[in-house]
Amino acid sequence: MRTPVQDYLKKMLDVARPNISGSRASYIPELRDATPDLLGMAICTIDGNIYSAGDDQEMFTIQSISKPFMYALALKDRGLDTVMETVGTEPSGEDFNELSLEGDTNRPMNPMINAGAIAVNQLINGEESTTEDRIALILEFMSDLAGRELEIDHGLCESEFAGADRNLSLAHMLRSYGIINDTAHDAVFSYVQQCSILVNVRDLAVMGATLANGGVQPRTGKQVLKPEICRQVQSVMVSAGMYNGAGQWLFDVGIPAKSGVSGGILGTLPGQLGIATFSPRLDSKGNSVRGVRVFEQLSKDMGLHLMATEPFGGDALREITSDGYTTTIHVQGTLNFSAAEELLWEVLPRELPNERIIVDLTEVRRARVAGSRILLDGITALEESGADVAVYDPHFVLKTHEREDGTDIEIVDNLPVR
Ligand code: GLU
Repeated sequence: MRTPVQDYLKKMLDVARPNISGSRASYIPELRDATPDLLGMAICTIDGNIYSAGDDQEMFTIQSISKPFMYALALKDRGLDTVMETVGTEPSGEDFNELSLEGDTNRPMNPMINAGAIAVNQLINGEESTTEDRIALILEFMSDLAGRELEIDHGLCESEFAGADRNLSLAHMLRSYGIINDTAHDAVFSYVQQCSILVNVRDLAVMGATLANGGVQPRTGKQVLKPEICRQVQSVMVSAGMYNGAGQWLFDVGIPAKSGVSGGILGTLPGQLGIATFSPRLDSKGNSVRGVRVFEQLSKDMGLHLMATEPFGGDALREITSDGYTTTIHVQGTLNFSAAEELLWEVLPRELPNERIIVDLTEVRRARVAGSRILLDGITALEESGADVAVYDPHFVLKTHEREDGTDIEIVDNLPVR
């Protein structure tokens, strides 16, 4: 059955389709010859529901959209300290292939420009790894993110490598500062292979949804990355993901994103969605013209801008009931910091009729760490005032059962019969 979401995506594409400005990347023959009118998009929710429209099966090389994922893999494989020694986190304000390093540290400014991406690629599987082993690990990781086996477009890879003088000069620069050990030839060949992985918008949307979902691939359920790595990667996407258009993008669209020269754009909305568009004509900053248009419209219509969040919390207290022996505090909604704070603000000053209190979390489907902590502190406060408190948590949403003093709160299996 068709869903309204599907129709909405089609409408988004119709808004962007008439815009035929911009031009295809010309420095790689296969990209120069790509069909310019292709246009597709997909979104994937953190529950793994995918919607797509237009040229959603068209395969294209991932190019620079591989960079945030390689940064994630390096963080996973080598840890934060090693990665931070190698590459910074500041927007460079320069072209993506600029020959420049951070003044005081000699690191590339960030992992989204080519100098940073070549350095990051070399960290994966250890500096001593062969290119083959490194690429095998990269492909396995990217396939885990997509939930299917991805492949490299070897023809495109060879033709990009044949004209990779700029990237070779970047690799020589990195070698001269001791940031990479490999030969410039091998380092760039490895990097160009990472850029030549073939995806379609549906793959990218799922991969983005994995970042948005704290590292759990929403369709396979596999924990591919730790949540803190997803946070770090998306932070760098915000500041440096859209070439030199990152500031304007944040202003207009407000979604962590990364674009690539083949015409793809990946967006991630933390806790909600992965979004991908594909259309080959690029603007002067190197971002897909129609892709940018789709994201702008989507962000506006759906209120997806990160800085325009709706108020959180509110109405966490559903009701308070009593059967004469037990008072039950029924909680609802998502229990984050503000919701838990508001709940306690409502409940703690009240005179509750019975000594026995049950906190009913039946209508709570998600609790964040801060919300769980605050709720537990509230339970401790009730106990200190003489109450005997237990929690009913049928969906296991609470992130902790431990009071500040290290002892566990009481969990009950049933609610009092009403
Ligand atoms: N393979 C491309 C390069 O290094 C990736 C560029 C991009 O998508 O920005 O030139």
